[in-house]
Amino acid sequence: MIPIQLLRKVSVFEGLNDRQLEKIASLCGEEIHVAGALIFKEGAPAQKVYILREGKIALEMGIRLWPEQKIRQMTIEILSPGELFGLSTLTESDVLTMAARAVDRSKLIVLNAGDLHPLMDEDHDMGYRIASGVANLVAARLRDTRLKLTGFLGESQVALEQTPEESTAIRRIQYGINFRWVAVIGVVVITLLANLVFGIRFPILPVLVIALIIALYNVAFWRYTERLESEEPATVIPKVRRYVWVQSVADLLATTAIIHFTGGVENPFILYYVFHVILASIILPYRLAYLLATLAVALFTSLVGLEYFQIIPHVHLEGFVRPDLYLQTSFVLAVLFGFGTTLYISAYLTTAIAGELRKRQRETVALRDRLLLEAKELEKANEELVRLDRLKTYFLAMASHDLKTPLAAVQSYLHVMLGGFVGELSDQHRHMLERSSTRINELFDLINRFLDLAQIEKGKVVEEMEIISLQEVLNSCVEDIRILAAEKSQELKADIPSDLPKVYGSANHLKQVVTNLLSNGVKFTPEGGSITLRARETDHHIEVAVMDTGIGIVPDDLPHLFEQFYRGKGGATAKGTGLGLSIVKRIVEAHQGKIWAESPYDDGQSGAKFVFTLPKGQPAGIKIFGD
Ligand code: ADP
Repeated sequence: MIPIQLLRKVSVFEGLNDRQLEKIASLCGEEIHVAGALIFKEGAPAQKVYILREGKIALEMGIRLWPEQKIRQMTIEILSPGELFGLSTLTESDVLTMAARAVDRSKLIVLNAGDLHPLMDEDHDMGYRIASGVANLVAARLRDTRLKLTGFLGESQVALEQTPEESTAIRRIQYGINFRWVAVIGVVVITLLANLVFGIRFPILPVLVIALIIALYNVAFWRYTERLESEEPATVIPKVRRYVWVQSVADLLATTAIIHFTGGVENPFILYYVFHVILASIILPYRLAYLLATLAVALFTSLVGLEYFQIIPHVHLEGFVRPDLYLQTSFVLAVLFGFGTTLYISAYLTTAIAGELRKRQRETVALRDRLLLEAKELEKANEELVRLDRLKTYFLAMASHDLKTPLAAVQSYLHVMLGGFVGELSDQHRHMLERSSTRINELFDLINRFLDLAQIEKGKVVEEMEIISLQEVLNSCVEDIRILAAEKSQELKADIPSDLPKVYGSANHLKQVVTNLLSNGVKFTPEGGSITLRARETDHHIEVAVMDTGIGIVPDDLPHLFEQFYRGKGGATAKGTGLGLSIVKRIVEAHQGKIWAESPYDDGQSGAKFVFTLPKGQPAGIKIFGD
């Protein structure tokens, strides 16, 4: 049988007890796969869950990086021993299954889904744990896959556009269609104006016919663009590009025809070819943009050449330029040179800017994806915090009720017995009952301190803060401790100036701080020693010090005194929870103060000195009135 220690390390079985693990182990078998063997195919419903015991397994997925290219098999993750795969066996059937392939010779622990399912149904606790473990693992794996793909697309030059880019491309085609309507109207208006108002003579009819043809094909393009919007995202970009190419060629032919009927090289509107090149360069890749510019140059040069060599008739703009201008070689060459360079420079500038924009767009999408993932992780962490906080509240409620109530009952029975109300007690019985009572008091103390800590964390200290007389607080602490000190014949000295300024704080909690420090002083000072409480005002603070002539603190203990449950080596014989100073520190810090310990102190005085500070003056918005 498979040792359960092996199963315990598998994340999905985390939290299962030995009995449950043994049940699972009894269902496990073993398989060995040679290097390169395909364990299951992508998308195939896995029949078994596998745990990698030795070797390496690659999870693979077919990815199409470019819409017209073949699907390529890519490794998404390499698993190492202890990891689980074949998860779709345990999830809904529509969860993505990657292919699994042995990279090296691999030893696998195999579990039949058919065996595991009844076990999970039968033992609900186990079923729940495994199911939630699997869900977490699947989610993590999907997230990794997505991150990997996003990273890959972000860095490489693969022209696989993201959705915002696709919609931009479609929008740009729409600009082209609108622009064409304006062009049709422009051609008609300019033709009529030139003829009727400026008296420039050229045949109007062919120009108007060409304008009509443009209008007709624009209607067809417009219809087609609407269809593009509902296309599959992956095929949009290549379709848009083909479509822009067809439109641009049609436009160039139509423009060349219009230019032919409106004076050829004489027509100043030849520069309008530039618009076609610019519009196409925004959408098309570099190569196609330059090809289009070349086509425009070729068409225009052919037109001008054919007219120059009088192979086709030249239409003269009567009344606009000299009739033989189209035959003047220097003029024709200069126009062609200016025309060609304008078109190529436009293509260069536009493709460069559009390429840059496309890159930024892709980066933005990749960044957005990453941020979304991080936000999800933060959300998860936050949920976990909320859960822990609830658990703490529950624990506190339980501590204060479920723990203290039975303890109080036990304590009262002990008092009844110790009071002799249920009969005489032997000395031995009395001794044992007294010890029980003491231990129960210690337990009460521990529970109360836990509750204290929780209250402080919940902001209780700050809630209770008001303007108080520190002098009164300190004096009352001294009175409280006086009997304790007298029991050990210790001298208790107080040096508290009568003009000590008032402070903004919680009287109850500050009392707790000082009492704690004083009683520690009493506890750790032998009989006949002395304990001093001293308060004084400095420039920015009020400083309170508790000093004793006791056993002192060894240097190793000093840095840890304020940690929870820390009990110093020197104080090992004295009883305590080790929580007192950590509570004290939190209270002082809630008051924006500092606390520290020194031992020895004041140039060689043996014993311990604890000092804490409280800020002087007025916290924002609160006024402290002096006496
Ligand atoms: P407890 O609640 O058990 O008294 P504290 O947190 O108050 O624990 O103190 C922690 C440790 O600090 C003690 O175990 C002791 O070693 C040391 N300590 C505290 N006060 C003094 C002191 N006045 N003199 C010597 N050691 C002290």
